[in-house]
This record gives sequence, C-alpha cells and structure tokens, in this order.
Amino acid sequence: MSTVSREEHPETPPYALTVASTDSGGGAGITADVKTMNRLGVYAGCAVVSVTAQHTRGVERTHVLPAEEVAAQVDAVREDFDIGAVKTGMLATEAGIDATVSGLSEYDGPVVVDPVMVSTAGDVLLEPTAIDAYDRLFELATLLTPNADEAAELTGVHPDSPEATVEAATALIDRGADAVLLKGGHVDTGEEVRDTLVTGDDSYTYVTDRVETDRTHGSGCTLSSAIAARLAHGDALETAVERGINFTQAALTRPADVGRGPGSVNHLVETEFEFDTVERSTIGD
Ligand code: PLP
Repeated sequence: MSTVSREEHPETPPYALTVASTDSGGGAGITADVKTMNRLGVYAGCAVVSVTAQHTRGVERTHVLPAEEVAAQVDAVREDFDIGAVKTGMLATEAGIDATVSGLSEYDGPVVVDPVMVSTAGDVLLEPTAIDAYDRLFELATLLTPNADEAAELTGVHPDSPEATVEAATALIDRGADAVLLKGGHVDTGEEVRDTLVTGDDSYTYVTDRVETDRTHGSGCTLSSAIAARLAHGDALETAVERGINFTQAALTRPADVGRGPGSVNHLVETEFEFDTVERSTIGD
C-alpha cells in the first residue's frame, strides 16, 4: 500500500472551465474542449448547457438544461477551484446565455467567448431570437472568437477585406468585448488563412497555410479552448492566440478519421508534432 498526500506530491495544474454543450460523437463542444485543454496541460471542468445527440454528420437532437442547473454548475466550480480561464461555447438559448452571464458575474479572470450560432453541417446551435442576448456576454469577454459568418450576422459588416475585418472586429469591441479574434477560415484568401486579432490597442494578423480538408468538425471549439488553456497557463493574449492557432493547425493537419462522415479535427494530436507554423505580424507595421 502507498499513501499519497497533497503535501508530498503537490501538483497544481492550471484550471479552466468550459461552459458549453456536449457532442455525443466527441468531435465538438465540451467533448472537444476538455480534450484540448487536457492535451495542453490544463485541468478542465465543465458546465453543461445542453446535451446534443450528434455525430460527424450533424446534430440529431438537442436537450437544453434548465438555466438554474447551468448556474449551479458554474457556482459549484467557482466555489472550489481557482479558475485560470473560462471558455464559453454553444449556449443554445437566451436563458443559457443569461445563466452563463450570472454564473460568471463574480469571476474576473479571462473569458474566451466563442459566439457559436450554426454548425458547419448547418445545424442551428443558438435559437435565432437569442442573438441579441450575446451582448450581455460580450461585456465579460476578454476575447471573442467569431468566424466571418458570425461576425457578419452580429455586425452587418462582411469581413471580406482587411479593412472590413478590422471594422467588424472594432464594432464588436464597441459592444463590450476587450478583444476580437476574427477567424479567416471561411474567407477566400487563397492558399493561406488570415486570422485577425484586434485589441483595444493593437491589431495582429496570423497567417497559416490553408489545410485542404473537410475534417474541420470541432475546429472552432478546439481553437477557443486552446486559447483559454494557454491563458490559464498565464500567456499574454497575443501569445495565447498564436499558440491556439498553432495547436488547431496541428489538429487539422493530423485529423481523426472517425465516424462515417467527414471525420473531425484531432484534439489528441501527438506531442512530437511541432506547434509552430503560424506567422504573426502587427497590422500597420
Ligand atoms: N456541437 C456543439 C455542441 C458545438 O458546441 C459546436 C460548436 O461550437 C458544434 C457542434 C459545431 O461544430 P462544427 O461546426 O465544428 O462542426
């Protein structure tokens, strides 16, 4: 028999919380978030907002939990853990958004908000009438991570040029977010993908090679979770974003050939893979 005490074996990994929804198939949602955070050395907790019956081909059913259950999960985690970062994902309804906002009202660490609306397969992940409620969550966001479609829906500006991208991101900062990472994966920029980070002070472009694959299921969840994980490690925002993009690029480059659909990104991409493919530059330099 061996006795293990906290005093003799102190190991305090960074802790991050995902407030989102499950994907029974394991490619997206909380299932992707926890794997990504664990893979990046972070102890992950979760507050489940809704449960989806889902696989790599789409969402079959969604069951939304009562708002008080969401708030209770966030409260339970807040009472017991030193949370280094929070990520929010699919919140499903206005009540889901408001439960998240009230659960996080006493928390003042970094919050990465992925303003999820519709899946790649076309499934509605947020009831359309709830979109305006996102503004209440944006107030808490250290970083907002919309794709081009989400940014256009939220602002009316289509980020199809560098100028329009900064304009859309700035409009979202005006609505309460501290910073915006506008993802360029859905924008036609040829063989490269340009993700743009706009903070109150600076703007950066991150350029990666476009990966020709339909195994993108879970990529948005993976990116926002990877950034949250790196923020929980204490990275500065622009570094956390760079490492998050590198990790997601690796997960896209070595996808998981699972399911009968297109497969998904590989959140468990091997450690030997060098996460260093992105080029960062400051806009205006
Ligand atoms: N399912 C859940 C529970 C999600 O949270 C998300 C995205 O946030 C998706 C599905 C969408 O996944 P994708 O568009 O990457 O296929």
